[in-house]
Amino acid sequence: MLTMTFLGVGSAFAKRNYNANILFELWRDEWDGNVPPTPPDDTLLVDFGVTGPLALYALKERPGFEYLRTPSGGISYPAIRKVFITHQHADHIGGLEEMALMNTFVFNDRNTGKPHKPEVISTINILVNLWDHSLKGGLNTIQNRYALLQDYFFIRALIACKPGHNTFSVGPYVFEIFPTDHVHIERKYDWPSYGLFVSNPKGGAAFYSGDTRFDYPAYMRMMERATICFHDCQLFDQQESVHATLSECRTLPAAIKQKTLLYHYGDGFDDKALAPALAEFKGLARPQERYHLFPVRPDRSPDRPLT
Ligand SMILES: [Zn+2]
Ligand SMILES: [Zn+2]
Repeated sequence: MLTMTFLGVGSAFAKRNYNANILFELWRDEWDGNVPPTPPDDTLLVDFGVTGPLALYALKERPGFEYLRTPSGGISYPAIRKVFITHQHADHIGGLEEMALMNTFVFNDRNTGKPHKPEVISTINILVNLWDHSLKGGLNTIQNRYALLQDYFFIRALIACKPGHNTFSVGPYVFEIFPTDHVHIERKYDWPSYGLFVSNPKGGAAFYSGDTRFDYPAYMRMMERATICFHDCQLFDQQESVHATLSECRTLPAAIKQKTLLYHYGDGFDDKALAPALAEFKGLARPQERYHLFPVRPDRSPDRPLT
């Protein structure tokens, strides 16, 4: 079974919620109840922004997330096996330097001294820029020597829009990347950013928009197929916004809205004036709560948190 927990649901500048980053957890066997009986068999972070370390630090205190905690009460970074990067904004990558340094100096192998290395997954263009433009500044020198991205992570490079090269798997679940219309240099898609379409081979799919402007024609077929959708949403209108605004999201077909949870929202989310517009949707995604993405039991719903 696959669960999805937002470390946070906030916009890049939100202070009441952490950055919109996600922890996916895989168990080979289904479990009942609200709290898993064992740690997951695999884990995947989708993005790890500037608030990521604090968000994980808080999450490890919640029931069923104890495996993220070290005996002394810190974050057990080796519990994170894979990290997928949607794009290079700091609310999506700002926590990676801490993760890399902790895995190198705190969670290294006691016998060999080798760092603990999770897998970093993204497209080649994002991975190259992630190192050259972002991580290199803080990570390119380890005591007495130079270091590269592969000193901290196993690298898996994808190629967008090329069948066979645009997916990765967590257990039996297939994560397909698709380009999102987030920030332009000169034209659509020329600054790379990606969303995810997660398929369950036994049926069901989840659409995760990543950071994007409103572009329903591009996402329509995926959103129609999905059993649940998670869509970027900025709560206020803005000319040339790089995010989908709530007004734009309201133009989605009613059947799509009813299976869509909004995330990446600002701190005004509980303003009563927004309630009628938000009521058209499945709701706002909730932070630090575990969603069972493809429940096998009819009394479980993927939009209802387990904890
Ligand atoms: Zn963002
Ligand atoms: Zn962004």
